[in-house]
Amino acid sequence: MDKHIMKSANEAAERIIEWGEAHKIETCFERAEKLKPCPIGEKGACCKVCHMGPCRLVGKNAEEEARGVCGATLPTVAARNLVRMIAAGTAAHSDHARDMVLTLLATATGEAKDFQITDVRKLYRVAGILGIEFEGRPVNDVAKDVALRFLEDYSRQKGEINYAKRAPKKTQERWRKWGIVPRNIDREIAEAMHRTSVGVDHDPDHLLLHGLKTAIADGWGGSMISTDITDILFGTPRPVKAEASFGIFKEDEVNLVVHGHEPSLAEMIVDVASEPEMIAYAKSKGAKGINLGGMCCTANEVLMRHGIPTAGGFTNQELGIMTGLVDALTVDVQCIMPAIAELSKKFHTKIITTSEKAKIPSAVHIEYDEHRAREIAREIVKLACDNYQNRKTEGSHITDKFPVVAGFSHEYIEYMQGGRWRASFRPLNDAIMAGRIRGVVGLAGCDNPRVPSTGIHKYLATELIKNDVLIVSTGCGSAACGTAGYLTPEMALEHAGPGLREVCEAIGIPPILHLGACVDNSRILTILSAMAEEGGLSDEIGGMPGVGIAPEWMSEKAIAIGCYFAASGVPVIFGGESPVGSSEEVTRIMTEVWYERFKGAMHFEPDPEKMLALALDYIDKAREALKLKKYEPGKFGAERVLMDMAARRELERAAKPHIGL
Ligand code: SF4
Ligand code: SF4
Repeated sequence: MDKHIMKSANEAAERIIEWGEAHKIETCFERAEKLKPCPIGEKGACCKVCHMGPCRLVGKNAEEEARGVCGATLPTVAARNLVRMIAAGTAAHSDHARDMVLTLLATATGEAKDFQITDVRKLYRVAGILGIEFEGRPVNDVAKDVALRFLEDYSRQKGEINYAKRAPKKTQERWRKWGIVPRNIDREIAEAMHRTSVGVDHDPDHLLLHGLKTAIADGWGGSMISTDITDILFGTPRPVKAEASFGIFKEDEVNLVVHGHEPSLAEMIVDVASEPEMIAYAKSKGAKGINLGGMCCTANEVLMRHGIPTAGGFTNQELGIMTGLVDALTVDVQCIMPAIAELSKKFHTKIITTSEKAKIPSAVHIEYDEHRAREIAREIVKLACDNYQNRKTEGSHITDKFPVVAGFSHEYIEYMQGGRWRASFRPLNDAIMAGRIRGVVGLAGCDNPRVPSTGIHKYLATELIKNDVLIVSTGCGSAACGTAGYLTPEMALEHAGPGLREVCEAIGIPPILHLGACVDNSRILTILSAMAEEGGLSDEIGGMPGVGIAPEWMSEKAIAIGCYFAASGVPVIFGGESPVGSSEEVTRIMTEVWYERFKGAMHFEPDPEKMLALALDYIDKAREALKLKKYEPGKFGAERVLMDMAARRELERAAKPHIGL
C-alpha cells in the first residue's frame, strides 16, 4: 500500500483539505493531528464507571497485577469498556429502527398521511417470516400487525427476538448453547449497562458473552428490522446508476444535502424537491433547479432507492461545506460532526438539525414529525432555496465525480441469479465451490481522519478483487469505494482477478456490490443464511469462506456490527489500535474462544497488508475445511477462452433475466 502520508486518499478531498489549510480553515484532519489519542484509553485500560476512579490499569505486568480502587482487574475493565461500546452501538441502530417501526405503525393506521406502503411484496415476505396472515387482508392491516410484532422486540421480557429464527439452525443452536439469543433489544442494552456498572459482573468471558447477546440484538434485531421496514415503506433497492464525490454539487442550482441516518424525512425531501411549485420557487430565487445530494448513511438510503448522488462518507462532511456550494445541509442522528455548525459560519451553508434527539448550538432546528412530513420537507427545501441567493464565491468549488452503480439488496442478488421464478443463490455458491470466486468479504464501516482517509478501503478493495474475492460493501465503506470510482462494472474489467471477472461479466454486476447503509449490514446476514441454506458450502454462517473488514472504523456502532458478525460465525478484522489491546485475556477470548464457540472472531490489525493476508488466510482455511477445490490464482483466466460453453451458458441463462430492468 502507498504509505505516502496524506490526509485523505481521495484526490478531490485532499485538494479541498489543502485549500482549507491555505485559507486557515480547520477540519477533523488537523484536529486529529493535534489531538493524539490517549494511549491508556485507546487500549481500553481506563475505567471511569465510578467516582473512586478514573482508574488507569497500567504498568509492568498490568494484566496480572494492576487493580482499580475496587479491585477490578485489567481484563474486567477492558471487557466492560467493550461491552459498553456494543451497547451504545446497538442502541443507536435500534433506536433508529424503533422510529421506523413507529412510522410503519403510523402509516398503517393512517396517522402519517404522507407515507404509504411502497413494497407490498416485501411486506408479505416479512409477514410470512413473522407468521402473520396476509392473504386476502387489507395491506394496512398487515402492516399494522407487522409493526406491532416488531414492537414486541422492544418489550418482551422472556423468549427470543423475532428474527433469531432467520439464522441457520446450526447458528441458532450455537447461540442457545451459550445463552446469547436476545430477549428484547432494550433489555439487552439495559442489562449491558447494568452489568458493566461498578461492582456487578467481573468475569471477562461472562461480560463478553452478554456483549455478543447485545450485538445480536442489533444485527438480527434493530438493524434487520430497520432494513425491512425501510424497504416496505420506500421500496426494496435494485441497482441504480448515480454519481459520487464533490462534483455532484451544481453551480447554478440549489444544492441541498441530506446527512445522517434515518431515511423518512430524506425520502420526503426527495419527493418534494421535484414538485413543480418547489422548482418554481427555486427559479424565483435565481437558481435553475434543485439538486439533492447525500452524505453518510442517509446518502446510501436515497442513493439506492432514487439514484440521488452521494458526496461521500463521514470525513467528507466538512469538506462538502468547504466547496462553498452547499446551500443547506440537513442532519438527524449519528456521525454528524458538531464542527459543521461552526464551519458553516465561514460559508453561507445553513445547517438544519431535524431530530428531536439531536441539536447543535447555532444550527437552525426544524423538527421532523412523521405526521407532518411533507409540510416539514417543503419548509426545508424552501429554506435551501432562500439561501441560494446568499451563495458567495468562496469555496474550493471541486468538480470531480464518478459514476456508481448501487442498490444490491438481498432480494435483487437472489433475483439476478435466476429471475423471478428461479431466484436462488446457486450460481454464487457454485462459483465459490469451483474457485472462480475465492470467497466473499464484507468491506464496511467508517472512514477515519486518523489514517489517510478512505485509503485502506481503496487498498483492500483493489487487492481483494484482484484475488478473486467478491466484495459486498455498506456504509461509508461503500462511499469510499464510490467516490474513488470503484462501484462500476468496469472495475471488474480493470482490476478483478480472472475468475471473479468472468462471473461479473456473465451476470453483469460490479465486483464490489453496494448493499446500502450501515443498518443494511443485516442484508449480509440474510444473504449468508440463504447461501448456507442453498447448500454446497457451510450449512451455517460459520465456516463460510467469508470475512468482514472495517479497516477505518471509528464508531461504537461499528463495534456492535463486528461483534454480531463474530457471534454469527464470521471472522472480522478491524483496523487501527485494538480498544481491548491492553488485555491479552480479552484479546484471546475475542479471537480464539469466540472462534471455537461460534466460528467467528474479532481481530484488530492496524497494518493493511496484514489485514489482507489474514482475510485471505481465513478464506483459504474455510475452503480447505469445506473440502472445496483449492483456489488457484489465474486458473479461470487461462481457461477463459476455452471455458466450458455449457457451463457458461448455464451461468448466463441463470443470470440474464435481470439485465435491462
Ligand atoms: S469501578 Fe473500580 S476500576 Fe472502575 S473507576 Fe470505580 S474503582 Fe476504578
Ligand atoms: S460507516 Fe461509520 S461513519 Fe459512516 S455512517 Fe456508519 S458509523 Fe457513521
